[in-house]
Amino acid sequence: MNRRSFLTSSSLVISGLSLSPFVSSVYFNENSLGMSQKAKQAIINALPNAFRYPDDARSKLINELGKEFKLSDKHISLGNGSSETIQAAVQYVANKAQKEGKAIQLIVPDPTFNYAELYAEPLGVKIVKIPVDKTLAFDLETMQKKAQEFDGISMVYLCNPNNPTAMLTPTAALTHWIKSAKENVFFIIDEAYAEFVSTPEFTSAITLVEAGYKNLIVARTFSKIYALAGLRVGYGVAVPDVVADVDVFVSIDNTNTAGAVAALASLKDKAYVEYSRKSIDVSRQMVVDVLKELDIEYAPSHANFIFHKVKGDVKTYQNRMKDANIMVGREFPPALGWSRLTLGTPEEMRYFVTTLKAFRTKGWI
Ligand code: PLP
Repeated sequence: MNRRSFLTSSSLVISGLSLSPFVSSVYFNENSLGMSQKAKQAIINALPNAFRYPDDARSKLINELGKEFKLSDKHISLGNGSSETIQAAVQYVANKAQKEGKAIQLIVPDPTFNYAELYAEPLGVKIVKIPVDKTLAFDLETMQKKAQEFDGISMVYLCNPNNPTAMLTPTAALTHWIKSAKENVFFIIDEAYAEFVSTPEFTSAITLVEAGYKNLIVARTFSKIYALAGLRVGYGVAVPDVVADVDVFVSIDNTNTAGAVAALASLKDKAYVEYSRKSIDVSRQMVVDVLKELDIEYAPSHANFIFHKVKGDVKTYQNRMKDANIMVGREFPPALGWSRLTLGTPEEMRYFVTTLKAFRTKGWI
């Protein structure tokens, strides 16, 4: 189930549990700390002029993003959330294939965030899912082989760190593939959680855009560390030609004034980002400690969620957690027996730790 179908099928569940502080905060990897005070103030300040179209706020944000990556505003494609950036990128490649009379496929690891697939499917794009290996790492070799064997255009969607595992794909392997890929392969690199990564081993694929590579777009978002999920601001970073091609498929004025000014203020509020990252580091360590203590297997997390093994049926575990007012993720086949936990505030995680220990006492985990 994805977020769209979850919302339509579970509105009763959501309203029924709306008293819990955990329901909305720990399910879709949002930042429970909420947005920066500077972002809130920016929205208030912008309201008197919100009767105008958002061009000014949008161009200031685009400009700042260009500067942030030492690129230009022509390297930035704003999205109504990075979901729209992914959608537009998929449409751009599908359209290119159609115009050139070529076949098209989308190669995705499995499990991963499924929006590229959801947007590609209705366009008649063939979806090729490559299961992660035993260690939950992407099987880049098989993905690469699928692209090489294909007589047509391949889109490759890679989420780094991956959702739901929170694991990183080694930069060297990823970079090598992108650099050596033939012209008929286009990469959508989803870095929705990149701001949470603190290991020096990670290098953003934006460096490849800086180096002038034309075969990728990097999707980023203000929904996660910046805590603006409800305001819907995301963006793509690519070389100007690609941005121009992708922008054809985004809705005009796709970012509203409130979202744009909040994103701009958040981007400049480095202290807030640092505070959020540190808070997640503390929360992650608390969860890692309890998982170790209870001898529960987990994947190395580089994001604001962690993937861990559960005993028995994941649905039962999810329901029991729900009864304790903790919303944990569903099972993500083919990673059977694993559950994704969004890392909330340290206070929320203290409650999770206590609950997990109580589950162990009952023999549930
Ligand atoms: N990419 C990944 C990996 C995600 O997990 C999400 C949201 O959960 C998104 C993209 C979409 O985020 P948004 O459209 O809010 O920017």
